[in-house]
Amino acid sequence: MTSSLGVYIQVPFCQTKCTYCNFHTGVVSAARFAPYVDAVCAEIAGHRGFYERAGVSLPETLAAAVVDSVYIGGGTPSLLDPAHLQRVLDMIRTSFVCDFGEVTLEADPETITAEKAAAWVAAGIGRISFGVQSFCDAELQAAGRMHRRADVFRAMPLLREAGISNVSFDLIAGLPGQTAESWKDSLERLAELGPQHVSIYLLEVDEGSRLGLEILQGGTRYSAARVPSEDEMAEFYETACEFLERVGFRHYEISNWGRAGFESRHNLKYWRREPYLGFGAGAHSFSGAQRWANAHDAAAYVTAIGAGELPIEQLETVTRESALEEELFLGLRKLDGIDVALIERRYGVAVEPRFARLMTAGLVEREGNCVRLAPGKLSVANEVFVELMR
Ligand code: SF4
Repeated sequence: MTSSLGVYIQVPFCQTKCTYCNFHTGVVSAARFAPYVDAVCAEIAGHRGFYERAGVSLPETLAAAVVDSVYIGGGTPSLLDPAHLQRVLDMIRTSFVCDFGEVTLEADPETITAEKAAAWVAAGIGRISFGVQSFCDAELQAAGRMHRRADVFRAMPLLREAGISNVSFDLIAGLPGQTAESWKDSLERLAELGPQHVSIYLLEVDEGSRLGLEILQGGTRYSAARVPSEDEMAEFYETACEFLERVGFRHYEISNWGRAGFESRHNLKYWRREPYLGFGAGAHSFSGAQRWANAHDAAAYVTAIGAGELPIEQLETVTRESALEEELFLGLRKLDGIDVALIERRYGVAVEPRFARLMTAGLVEREGNCVRLAPGKLSVANEVFVELMR
């Protein structure tokens, strides 16, 4: 049977740095976009040679795999000239067997114009993942976002007129100044605009972002004191679960909701442990047997590719035990849960005992062969995963 393959393209450039952002992205001159795109195209075209020299062995099954999903993420890939995106997609088409079922571009609302939207469609992009984050201007401003609520309302018709009928919105629960009322308003505005898919993320508090650092160490510059409490964030999440279900979305992964048939094909590969190859600085890949990540520094990446080397930061062979652990914690992210009988057959071990404590605590539930997170326990999923790995 021919296997399918996902391709991820990382574009690590942004117009400004949002206060909560803990991604490896940079604000650089537009003059650096073209050399970066050249390097990504060179990596795609010569991926076999790059992998061989870097110690990655691509399984034979992937040689004939069909690329059925492409995800161009970042960063803010919508900043690139559409001709750059066209070049990248054409390079994928000439370097792999392709039958694109889903091609997603992450876009920030203020970067969208009618011309760009039309060019994206001409290049084969059919799905836009929109970094909306909030419909409250005060929250967007506090978070250092470039767009405002009006930009989202302006951009949606442009996408629709260009023929893009698959749009996903991202919202963040936990922005400074967010309240139960403003959160409800964001959800209602979202429903008004009618996307096909929604992702909701809780604010991550760590030292990787300026806001996270201020929450941990104190300070007043990024409004850390106005960040909702963990309990409030959990409540926002529960409100979203109820609201989105009521307006017709199916909750299929902890952070993701889709209308029927609009679940993200590409992202489902991550949770199902299906193979994907990532190209660009900081991109991650999984072949089924190995996981690896390219170095984050975009300038160093361009130089290394120019010199014929793939700058890999991490390369690990997935052992049987870690593959099993991945099956469990990635599988539990899906609301359908995991098929215990299937996993026991595949790995030849009993996994039931691993869930015993979690079942007693009411954190997971079993129905037939399926084990899943218990309803109402999704917001404590991280605790479940920690317990599962003990
Ligand atoms: S647009 Fe996204 S990737 Fe860029 S700084 Fe903001 S949160 Fe980070």
